[in-house]
Amino acid sequence: MSLRIVETGGPEETETLGRELASVLREGDVVLVRGELGSGKTTLVRGAARALGVHEPVTSPTFSIGHRYDGGEVAVTHLDLYRLAGLEHEEPALLEDYLGPGRIAFVEWPQERAGELAGARLRVTLSHGGGDRRRVEVEDLEELEGSLPRGASAVQGESDRR
Ligand code: ADP
Ligand code: MG
Repeated sequence: MSLRIVETGGPEETETLGRELASVLREGDVVLVRGELGSGKTTLVRGAARALGVHEPVTSPTFSIGHRYDGGEVAVTHLDLYRLAGLEHEEPALLEDYLGPGRIAFVEWPQERAGELAGARLRVTLSHGGGDRRRVEVEDLEELEGSLPRGASAVQGESDRR
């Protein structure tokens, strides 16, 4: 696993970081994006989606759990599970439209929630650093998850942990 910590000084810099991260992603990858409200999760996803060929506006999903965008070569999906409490009790089928082969998925996830999305490729954690500064931690989980199939298929909640 590799860990990289950067500080961004404004939304453009966070978008640029998102663009950079996109360059390592492959079809089937899932990126977990954690952080408090307003920490810049959607901003980072917007930058990444741009780099992956999405031309449409990238906005927070509000009326559904996610958005699907056509990135040309791959579909880019964006899930916001921030407001969803206890996803472990949701239908796994709910996620099937968003995760898996042919897609690169970004999942916004509340910082404080226990539980993990199994099989994530990158884990990005954003936090407020005063004013427009944001601290961004990027963990590449590929080696750690190396023995698991690529692409998340299940959400593992706290109750599933041992
Ligand atoms: P989240 O999805 O985490 O709730 P958003 O990306 O929707 O956050 O919103 C972040 C807000 O913070 C935006 O209004 C953005 O302009 C502002 N902002 C200020 N500084 C930064 C920064 N360094 N990185 C990202 N967003 C920033
Ligand atoms: Mg958001």
